[in-house]
Amino acid sequence: MNKPVLTCWGGVESVTGANFLLEIPTSGKPFKILIDCGLLQGSRGAERVNAERFDYDPATIDAVFITHAHIDHIGKVPKLVKDGFKGTVYSTEPTKELSVLMLLDMAKIAESNERNYGRKGLYNAVDVERAMKQWKSLPYHQPESLVGCIVELLNAGHILGSAMYKFTFPGGSILFTGDTGSAISPIQKEIDKPEGLKYLLMDAVYGDRNHESKADRERLFTATLSDAIRSGGTILIPAFSLERSQVLLYELDQLFKSGTVPKIPVFLDSPLAIKITEVYEKFESEYNDVVQNILKTDDDAFKFPKLMETVGGRESRDIGMVKGAKIIMAGSGMSTAGRIQMHEASYLPDPKATIIFVGYQVPGTLGRQIQEGQKSVVIDGQRIDVRAKVVSIDGFSAHRDSDGLVEFVSHTAKSLKNVFITMAEPKSAMYLAQRLKDEFNLKTVLPERGVRYELDL
Ligand SMILES: [Zn+2]
Repeated sequence: MNKPVLTCWGGVESVTGANFLLEIPTSGKPFKILIDCGLLQGSRGAERVNAERFDYDPATIDAVFITHAHIDHIGKVPKLVKDGFKGTVYSTEPTKELSVLMLLDMAKIAESNERNYGRKGLYNAVDVERAMKQWKSLPYHQPESLVGCIVELLNAGHILGSAMYKFTFPGGSILFTGDTGSAISPIQKEIDKPEGLKYLLMDAVYGDRNHESKADRERLFTATLSDAIRSGGTILIPAFSLERSQVLLYELDQLFKSGTVPKIPVFLDSPLAIKITEVYEKFESEYNDVVQNILKTDDDAFKFPKLMETVGGRESRDIGMVKGAKIIMAGSGMSTAGRIQMHEASYLPDPKATIIFVGYQVPGTLGRQIQEGQKSVVIDGQRIDVRAKVVSIDGFSAHRDSDGLVEFVSHTAKSLKNVFITMAEPKSAMYLAQRLKDEFNLKTVLPERGVRYELDL
């Protein structure tokens, strides 16, 4: 082998489970690196697939590069270590700190499933701690030499700490984007747009769709809150703990401060989101200029006087005793588990209440059933009538949309030899491939799992 070889072991024909192997030739055995090592999520049989043996021997992997702390990018790292990986895991410092919280939360869920249902989990808290001992952080924009190439982290603009990895060989560069950020994020910096790449491996969750504009999203969010507050009802927001919850806190703070929306109590009812928000507060310099400006006069972009963080279960249950208009943010983001279910059981029958969906709801989940307008749903074995107002706002997405992806590619279209489209449903990947062909006459590959692609680098 005298050329680098790329093999996709996950993140193909699916939006989750990122796992890409790059083998770099040396005079001896190839130097093997992984980009991301994530869990497959949401699809049928995911749990069984995640528990299977790795397709490669973890002991032969030399290093892992993590793009960002979402579970579908990091969720299998502790299993990799448990199964024999002895090398180093690299990411940005925020990603490292967020990853500990996310992985410990996964381990906690696995341990409780094991206790309650006897289902063996992938790993426990001890395995997570062990993996973190092999984890090192790297800064953005400082090229480092690696075996046979140079690696550089670029800003992906997706969530706090998200990075793209550029590997430069004598014959050119390949960029792994991980998930790329949306231009409509209120807090993240705009993604870096490198030029002169030879290969690109890009995510394309929204390859075939565009988001509503930032202005439309703000209008809809403000109007929904104002209506609900006027009627004195409770507002439920099922929210993912990482990024979505912090973006909501930031937006609510701005709406209250400007007087656009009357100040009402807000409950952040998620121990994980509370811990993650602490990490967000630590890395102030990571955010865009708008946030930097706000931080000149406000010492915290994610907190405000009427925000209450409820850590304990008792505090969480007591939220129901607070009368009048209030906002409850809790996980899980698709209402498949967590404290949001308890609040949904209490408030969905109330015609004065409102539930706002701010993220994609996978078909079949409780969130999707409510979003689709079912008149009643089953929560914890009980049939619950849905009389609350149901609103969906999709403009909060942290993913770049179809136009944004094409614009990103435009900066390097001239030098590209090939684009590997990953982390997308086939329909979305094919749509994006066609757009890239039409606009830039680009060659694209929808990689197949386990196929070795030799790179001309
Ligand atoms: Zn992500």
